[in-house]
Amino acid sequence: MQISTTPNPTPVDDARLAEILAAPGFGTYFTDHMLTVEWTPEEGWHAGRITPYGPLTLDPATAVLHYAQEIFEGMKAYRHADGSVWLFRPEANAERMARSSARLALPVLDPADFVATVDALVRADERWVPDAEGEKSLYLRPFMFASETFLGVRPSQHVTYMVIASPAGAYFKGGVKPVSLWLTEEYTRAGRGGMGAAKTGGNYASSLVAQQEASAHGCDQVVFLDAQEGRYVEELGGMNMYFVHADGSISTPETGTILEGITRSSIIELAGKLGHQVRERKFTIDEWRDGVTSGDIVEVFACGTAAVVTPVGSLKWAGGDVPSATGDAEGGPVTTMIRQALVDIQYGRAEDTFGWMHRV
Ligand code: PMP
Repeated sequence: MQISTTPNPTPVDDARLAEILAAPGFGTYFTDHMLTVEWTPEEGWHAGRITPYGPLTLDPATAVLHYAQEIFEGMKAYRHADGSVWLFRPEANAERMARSSARLALPVLDPADFVATVDALVRADERWVPDAEGEKSLYLRPFMFASETFLGVRPSQHVTYMVIASPAGAYFKGGVKPVSLWLTEEYTRAGRGGMGAAKTGGNYASSLVAQQEASAHGCDQVVFLDAQEGRYVEELGGMNMYFVHADGSISTPETGTILEGITRSSIIELAGKLGHQVRERKFTIDEWRDGVTSGDIVEVFACGTAAVVTPVGSLKWAGGDVPSATGDAEGGPVTTMIRQALVDIQYGRAEDTFGWMHRV
């Protein structure tokens, strides 16, 4: 894919950049450039370009604003101690975006082109990748949307793909802390044949009211159950779930209606290599409640690009609660070991025996 570059004539100055990278938060500051590629049925993907970061001008009848034909990805660039910059399994994000495209009737961007576009933007904005210390990173947001000006309900005949980037601070400031969860029995995230496995904005729009319910009950995040029977644990609003059993085996909800997290699939491989038997299966909410009480479940954790691995504390629902499987600890030994192993690979502090890292 051809990508032209128009450098930003007024990039952020060094002093301001240092200030931003000292406390980037999440999703607040954006880099000097953005990458755009257009698609039409006649021309395919074309007009690839890196330009100064800035607002888009959209016709009010742009299809995405009405029918939400949109998908996105989320991944990070990490700086290693020697200054080099790396992505974690970008091909996996590329393949997931291709699967999301298929579900949302959007054109597929070739996975090699996806990786090339992300590499190109990271190279253009390399000075925005924070130093390794403090688990900082440059968050990358590739996304694709229906950009045709047309109010008919049908797959868009003009599609725009973009990549933007935003420096991100450590998810946990002052040490890893367990999250408290709210089990919503009112809202579900995805039904059979729905879009649960696709990374599309609508899934997040539908999660917001459930997240509000969680906050109103003093919990950090919401857990969704399956839509059909309301018995099986699916995932959190933005993370997948894991359960560690007393015998050392590990369970994680099977895919189909959940987002197939890159962190989730990496943990399946990593935990297997560390000697844990990992099962992808249906996992009921009763197994969680009873397992913590009986001692069969000794650790619960959630995982995703943002936090890598988060210990789960208490679980609350309208009729009661179960305490943390590990008491007040900052995560049990298996949770801590898996988290450390992943973070060490991402920041180049441990040998990447899986071949997961991609040098930009
Ligand atoms: N589930 C949902 C709903 C998510 O939004 C995310 C974040 N992308 C995840 C799981 C975790 O996926 P990943 O490990 O690829 O970040």
